[in-house]
Amino acid sequence: MADENPTRVGFLGLGIMGSPMAHNLIKAGCDVTVWNRTKSKCDPLIDLGAKYKASPGEVAASCDVTFAMLADPESAMLVACGEQGAASGMSLGKGYVDISTVDGPTSTLINAQIKETGALFLEAPVSGSKKPAEDGQLIFLTAGDKSLYDKVSPYLDIMGKSRFYLGDVGNGAAMKLVVNMIMGSMMTSFAEGLLLGEKVGLDPTVIVEVISQGAISAPMFSMKGPSMLQSKYPTAFPLKHQQKDMRLALGLAESVSQSTPIAAAANELYKLAKSHGLSDHDFSAVIEALKVKLKD
Ligand code: NAP
Repeated sequence: MADENPTRVGFLGLGIMGSPMAHNLIKAGCDVTVWNRTKSKCDPLIDLGAKYKASPGEVAASCDVTFAMLADPESAMLVACGEQGAASGMSLGKGYVDISTVDGPTSTLINAQIKETGALFLEAPVSGSKKPAEDGQLIFLTAGDKSLYDKVSPYLDIMGKSRFYLGDVGNGAAMKLVVNMIMGSMMTSFAEGLLLGEKVGLDPTVIVEVISQGAISAPMFSMKGPSMLQSKYPTAFPLKHQQKDMRLALGLAESVSQSTPIAAAANELYKLAKSHGLSDHDFSAVIEALKVKLKD
């Protein structure tokens, strides 16, 4: 890979998703430079051969394309456009690919700041969680500069199993938020069903099995169900990020006066779960909020 494509690749944000994604690029032989707010998360990747720079701007200045995988709109803005942010190191011929899940307006602002430097911009949020990130099986939902999309496609193919080009900036964010709004509502509905079934005397493990064989079967239910029944929530997708996505999806709906009563109700449960200290647990821990609520 390195010989075929000598592009220097930057990677900003090494959390649950960013670390395995950068790891896969390094394993594939790419020339990778990393940065993370908490520096210690860079160390395992430096050990694997990654270079390190002390700020997003320095990474961007030393690389041809820079990927960013940040927590939320605020951190995505800060890392892209803040002091020593990526934009400060961008210039003509470079590209910035934001793979964080943010809302369209945030993505549009970042696009404008990057474009001012002469560089190209692509938003590319991902569908898929920790395991698909580790396995290089993510789905990229991209929008923005088509020439940058074409340039970074080999890297997207290392980190993912498929990619969609959706046109103008904002469309990738909207696609991601619609998908995660559905997922967030599915999880709360699943949790509600498990608790109701248990209350009326059904064996919840049989409920999970019955669901897995029918038309509403989904990998998410089969993967998360067994641990939820043991009240275990090993974090693949942090609950705080699922609540952020519900909030952003509701904002998207608000912007076009679309009624989304199911998502609004689900969002209340994620907020409740956060108030019970479950932010950093997996989003399946939302069932705990429902248990608390049922006891009220
Ligand atoms: P995470 O483990 O919480 O990582 C968040 C990253 O953002 C870390 O690198 C963190 O740095 C950085 N960050 C947070 N606030 C910052 C700030 N103020 N300034 C600079 N850096 C900051 O989250 P994740 O699960 O990897 O998710 C990253 C993004 O992908 C989110 O937008 C999420 O919604 C989306 N996503 C997640 C999944 C999933 O299953 N986990 C799936 C698809 C999409 P520190 O290490 O210093 O805290």
